[in-house]
Amino acid sequence: PPGHMMERPLLVSGILEHGAAQYGQQQIVSRETDGSLHRYRFADLARRARQLAHALRQLGLKPGSTVGSIAWNNHRHLEAYYAVSGSGMVMHTCNPRLHPEQLAYIIKHADDEVVLFDTSFAPLVQAVAAHCPRVRHWVALCDTAALPALEGLPGLLAYDPLIAPQSEDFDWPELDEHSGAALCYTSGTTGHPKGVLYSHRALSLSALSACLPGVLSLWSQETVLPVVPMFHINAWCLPYAALISGAKLVLPGPKLDPASLYELMESERVTVSAGVPTIWMGLIQYVEQHQLRFSTMRRTGVGGSAMPKALIAKFQDDYDVDVRHGWGMTETTAIATMSNLGPDEVTLPAAERYALVGKQGKSVFGIELKVVNEQGQTLPRDGQSQGELMVRGQWIVERYHKADRSALVDGWFPTGDIATLDAQGVMQIRDRTKDVIKSGGEWISSIDLENAAIAHPAVAMAAVIGIKHPRWDERPLMLVVCKPGQSGDKAALLDFLATRVAKWWLPDDIVFVDSLPLGGTGKVQKNELRQRYGSVFGA
Ligand code: ADP
Repeated sequence: PPGHMMERPLLVSGILEHGAAQYGQQQIVSRETDGSLHRYRFADLARRARQLAHALRQLGLKPGSTVGSIAWNNHRHLEAYYAVSGSGMVMHTCNPRLHPEQLAYIIKHADDEVVLFDTSFAPLVQAVAAHCPRVRHWVALCDTAALPALEGLPGLLAYDPLIAPQSEDFDWPELDEHSGAALCYTSGTTGHPKGVLYSHRALSLSALSACLPGVLSLWSQETVLPVVPMFHINAWCLPYAALISGAKLVLPGPKLDPASLYELMESERVTVSAGVPTIWMGLIQYVEQHQLRFSTMRRTGVGGSAMPKALIAKFQDDYDVDVRHGWGMTETTAIATMSNLGPDEVTLPAAERYALVGKQGKSVFGIELKVVNEQGQTLPRDGQSQGELMVRGQWIVERYHKADRSALVDGWFPTGDIATLDAQGVMQIRDRTKDVIKSGGEWISSIDLENAAIAHPAVAMAAVIGIKHPRWDERPLMLVVCKPGQSGDKAALLDFLATRVAKWWLPDDIVFVDSLPLGGTGKVQKNELRQRYGSVFGA
């Protein structure tokens, strides 16, 4: 028989009004572009979001219109998240670290009619505006006093005066929960960036699952600091999760350097954070160097690239911070898997526990995984058989924005990641299909090699790429950045690696460099490395 329950849509406006009604006095602390801290409450956020919704209507936007943003994690950006999606429009968060040509491409492709931007991005905005003729208004996220003199920007407006005269009440439309709410483009390391249009339902469910105890464990007694940018997969849905759970929200603005992050964590008594491994590497180096402690930080969500085991151990052993290592991609809205220790595993020796957390974990409820070979056959869950990771679930993309074909294969999304699954359902990413090194018909995992190198006390960062080789097809080349004050010793590092990986995995060469090229989301740009070092073996 049919169930006899109400049908109520899961909507972004519902998250806002829930947060404001149940936790109206909870705080949001936001680092402004000028470095100062802005402080207000969930109820104030809701008030200003409703005002913005009126203002956007007055500018002629309609349900279905797209509004772009080029902004850091701050309170005005947060208001836009709720106002734009809540009123039936699409919030398109742009990654300012994209190449300006790609930025103009996605603004055009998304049909952004209004673009909101932080004043610190004014030069970038001026560079792309001429290539985005459909944008009718560029809205600077500031008060009038901070509005810079900008030429060549059509319909330039300042945000605060735009919303100030508007009513604080707004009737959020009752939308279909499957309608598009937010749009994010992949970083486009191969070809043009591709857009993923998230539905209200996908965002709500994904945010809800981020609150679970086994995921980030959020509720009203936690303080959460998303270091992951709001332009990187909706900051993994934490701006929604905070209002669902009632957690205090701390937004770091443009200041993502270790000293500023540490200071904010301490002054705002942050308990939970989330970001990519490169951020945590910098932070740990900083606290070690200055012999600092975290007085309130208890756990951090990490993903976007593999979190090295050595870093997991350091967080846990030296600082008592629990690392939650997850996997996801633009196409999976946010978190799809999370590392988790079972009752038998918490008592394992430390090294074994960290090895488990170093894997990407189990799929969260709502998400299913499988691994297939090149013929598309499902491989056994034995922890050994590796193949392409396929995913399906409640918040997984079905097709790219404006694509006329589904992106799925037999109902599953092919991730382009190579992984294993074990009998317990624990997934481990071994590589990306385009980064894996194929040597003599066998695969070498660049991630495993990097992990091994990072464990060496002199190594700050490592990246491994495959280089064409006349006999073996490809061989690994390792690039290493040393910690400050340390110098590179190739022979010693090779000896060290030899104790951790198979002999035939050892890199054919190690090159010590001052830095590695990082992409828009803080990941090492291996394409760039392949271009630069591709001929190192003279092939
Ligand atoms: P891109 O890296 O293409 O800019 P995404 O941010 O969507 O875009 O990245 C998704 C990819 O990041 C995944 O397909 C996977 O290769 C990698 N990734 C994400 N989380 C992890 C993790 N915990 N360990 C290893 N790789 C990860």
